[in-house]
Parts: sequence; C-alpha cells; structure tokens
Amino acid sequence: MRVVRVARPDGPAFGVVRDGMVVLLDGHPFSGVTLTDRVAPLADVRLLAPILPSKILGVGRNYADHAAEMGGDVPSEPLVFSKPATAVIGPGDAIRLPALSREVHHEAELAVVIGRLTRRVAVQDALDAVLGYTCANDVTARDLQASDGQWTRAKGFDTFCPLGPWIDTDVDPAALAVRCTVNGELRQDGTTADLIYDVAQLVAFCAAFATLLPGDVLLTGTPAGVGPIVDGDTVTVAVEGIGELSNPAAAELPMPRR
Ligand code: MG
Repeated sequence: MRVVRVARPDGPAFGVVRDGMVVLLDGHPFSGVTLTDRVAPLADVRLLAPILPSKILGVGRNYADHAAEMGGDVPSEPLVFSKPATAVIGPGDAIRLPALSREVHHEAELAVVIGRLTRRVAVQDALDAVLGYTCANDVTARDLQASDGQWTRAKGFDTFCPLGPWIDTDVDPAALAVRCTVNGELRQDGTTADLIYDVAQLVAFCAAFATLLPGDVLLTGTPAGVGPIVDGDTVTVAVEGIGELSNPAAAELPMPRR
C-alpha cells in the first residue's frame, strides 16, 4: 500500500494509490485504513509531505563510507539528532538556502514512518512499530554543522526535511538502493544493506529515550557522496522500491519589511 497526503479544496487528506488513482481515506492511516468513494487521478493531485511528524530523529554517520568522507569514526552507538517538524516540506516544494549558510548539502536517506505509540521496545519487536517507509533529504548546512559544534541549526532550518512522495507500507528496508541526483547527475549511490545500525536497532534505540508517536519520522543516515546544492538546482532522492522525491533549491526569501 502507498499512502499519500494530498491537497484538497477542503484541506489536506490522506489517500492510497491504486492503479494510478488516489482513493481518499476517511481519517488517518494509523488505525486501519477506511477507503471512501472519493477518487482522483494521481497525475491530477498535488502531493504534500506524506506525514507531518511530531518529531524527526536522525542518525549521523550510519554508513561507513560517509563517516569516512566526513573524517569521523563510525560511532560506537547511534549518533542521534533531531530536526524540528517545521523543517518538513513535500515533493516539489523548494529547499530554501538560508543566507546564514554558505554551504548547504544534500543527504539522500531512507525514512522510517512510525505507525503506533511506542516506548521501550525490544529490537526483535521494533519493526512492529513501523507503518512504512518514504524518501528523505536530510538537508544540512555543512558549514554551520562544523562551526556550531552541534547540529541543531545546521539540520533544522525551515525546508531542510523534504519527505515523500508517499509512505510505502510493504517494502522490506533491508537492502534498498539509496541514490541522489542533482540536475540529473548521480551524486550518491548506496544501499541500506550497508547501514551500520539497521531500522529495528534505530527504532529500539530511539524508543528507549523518547516515546515515538504515530507519524514520527526516523532518518536512517546517508551514504557517501554528499555535496553542495545551489540556487536553481533540482535534487532528487530515489529509494528503490519506494519512489523518487524531487525538490528545487532556491535562495532564501528576503526578510519582510516592517
Ligand atoms: Mg543525514
């Protein structure tokens, strides 16, 4: 099942994709899916971020090749950070390059969407907490990540968490190709088979300190090949078995005059 969130005249609504059509749901997808008789062609709807999470937890240096390119060791346990919910944007929305940074990087990642309230779960039970998976771009102001010494600003700007195009509830996350292209040029080409801490380990690690709520998102880390995006670029994250998430990059809008 592929769960989408779409713009409708009466506000955002969840749906599922079937045979090129979006069948709208009654309510949300977390407590059983109830289909309505409202249907629209997928090509005619505007896809929104498939979920608005209460929190986004990411993990740094979770691929050895990326840890090496960052000049750091592989962490001895998951290196967790958070991004604010206000960073989320959907397919096609612009990544705004903040004036505060001179070096904004793409990070293609598999994202995990939590399906049920979960706290203190064993690794062997942790996948029961997962609704499904989507593509994410863990956009990062690399210069601020270094100068701040911690990552809250660098990863927390508005628009720094593109998600989409949908939540796939059937894909097996064990060995999926994770790729990033910028203007069609391949920049990252990894596989989740190389995750140092896998999805179940990450869910269990995070649920050991914070209650995970339905819709919360975990970012599983990025493979090697991160690099800058500039005004006018189009950056596309593709995760095998899920789909593609494309976003333009654009200079930050000027501050409003008062
Ligand atoms: Mg990342």
